[in-house]
Amino acid sequence: MLYVSTRGKADIVSSAYAISRGLAADGGLFVPQQLPSLRPEDIEEFSRLPYTELATEILSLYLTDYTKDEVRSAVTAAYRPQKFGGARPAPLVQAAPHTGVLELWHGPTCAFKDMALQLLPHLLNMARKKLGQEQKVAILVATSGDTGKAALEGFADVEGTEIIVFYPAEGVSLLQKRQMETQKGSNVHVFGIRGNFDDAQRGVKQLFGDRSLAETLNERGYVLSSANSINWGRLVPQIVYYFSAYAQAVLAGQVKQGRPVNFAVPTGNFGDILAGYYAKLMGLPIARLLCASNSNNVLTDFIDTGIYDKKRDFYRTMSPSMDILVSSNLERLLFDACGRNGEQVTGYMEKLAAGGSYQIEREILQQIRRHFFAAWVDEVETEETIDKVKSEHAYLLDTHTAVAWRALEKYRILTDDTTYSIVLSTASPYKFPDSVLRALGEDTEPQADPFALLKKLEEASGTAAPAKLAALRELPVLHKEVIDAQGMEEAVLNVLR
Ligand SMILES: *Cc1c(COP(=O)(O)O)cnc(C)c1O
Repeated sequence: MLYVSTRGKADIVSSAYAISRGLAADGGLFVPQQLPSLRPEDIEEFSRLPYTELATEILSLYLTDYTKDEVRSAVTAAYRPQKFGGARPAPLVQAAPHTGVLELWHGPTCAFKDMALQLLPHLLNMARKKLGQEQKVAILVATSGDTGKAALEGFADVEGTEIIVFYPAEGVSLLQKRQMETQKGSNVHVFGIRGNFDDAQRGVKQLFGDRSLAETLNERGYVLSSANSINWGRLVPQIVYYFSAYAQAVLAGQVKQGRPVNFAVPTGNFGDILAGYYAKLMGLPIARLLCASNSNNVLTDFIDTGIYDKKRDFYRTMSPSMDILVSSNLERLLFDACGRNGEQVTGYMEKLAAGGSYQIEREILQQIRRHFFAAWVDEVETEETIDKVKSEHAYLLDTHTAVAWRALEKYRILTDDTTYSIVLSTASPYKFPDSVLRALGEDTEPQADPFALLKKLEEASGTAAPAKLAALRELPVLHKEVIDAQGMEEAVLNVLR
């Protein structure tokens, strides 16, 4: 399996190369030259496999320059039961009639980014060896919260790598801050930035574009790389859990083998839901993929009208990981929907960069709407949903998952579709205890002690906080340094000596 760029002007490359580079040379994203297709009997067979074997089978179809044993060893290291709290990294819970919830947050940071970021470092390291790269990889991350911690956990103590994370010192939740400050590992480096997330992100982008920094680091034996969600190595692990969810629904007697299901996905950068689209094209029986947005509803408008327009107000919502106006992975869907025409995709992306919007042709929109339905959910509806699902179904949703749940309800009201549907749950409710408590009608003080909030949520909901979050309280703070955004380059040079 080889990889091409969505802009059509870069060389065709191996999966190891695509993973080690992240972005294609023409500015596009790497996509497989053609998607592998599975027969119904292959998919039926999957329900008999443990998650790691299923992942080995599916990933091997895409990572053909890795041996099956290499893939198996990467997957086994990534999804160790000690890390994912049991043998099933992504359990499907029957939460309501015709409705399952796929819990993707049993990993070390209690958010779904672990599903990919636990695996990526292993794939990246193997890629480096295959390509004969002598240098160590230095991963730079700017984070508004979840990604930074998941990257730290994924890369901690992985040989041949250093990981450097920058976060806005006053711009993440207290729990998220504590998660990063306490990160262990001989190769991890964490800096708070005086400024907001955009300052941190701008700083990291500048460092990536700085030729003389690259040369200096090269002499010191390092090459910079990124762990963000446009890397193929982050996308491909996500395809696996769609197959796993389907197999679990069949085993639970909720779906007859071969019959279609829907998936509702809380969407930001369009990575998670795109993996579902690829699973569908591979042959998994999926009727509809429901793209759920919060008040930052640029994708809802796009799927409804064919016009992508980022010139709009930006809202800070209680589902912050979906507060995004430019969804990078959408480019991969566009490439597919317009018949893999790189020139056409380049045209859209140039319009977006220059004028902030583009419009796709009617036939292309129809193509997209055959697979996707979109809905958005405001803050009041999100709170109502958390409260209602708790009282009617005794199931506690986090704020992101609540958006997807409500989008599914909207879809059902509009279509009368009773197909079994799976809501992807992307975070533990305990990652956002203040918002969830407020939704349940409890008073919370802003800036309250996060561990007191965990306790309070335990009492209010009758559920238990993940041990990994509660344990943060006892862990020593290892990273206290706060720097100016202008000091990021110096910090990198100090770390990579
Ligand atoms: C990143 C994230 C999302 C959005 O996923 P995308 O792949 O960017 O669409 C949703 N929920 C949570 C909790 C996340 O961390």
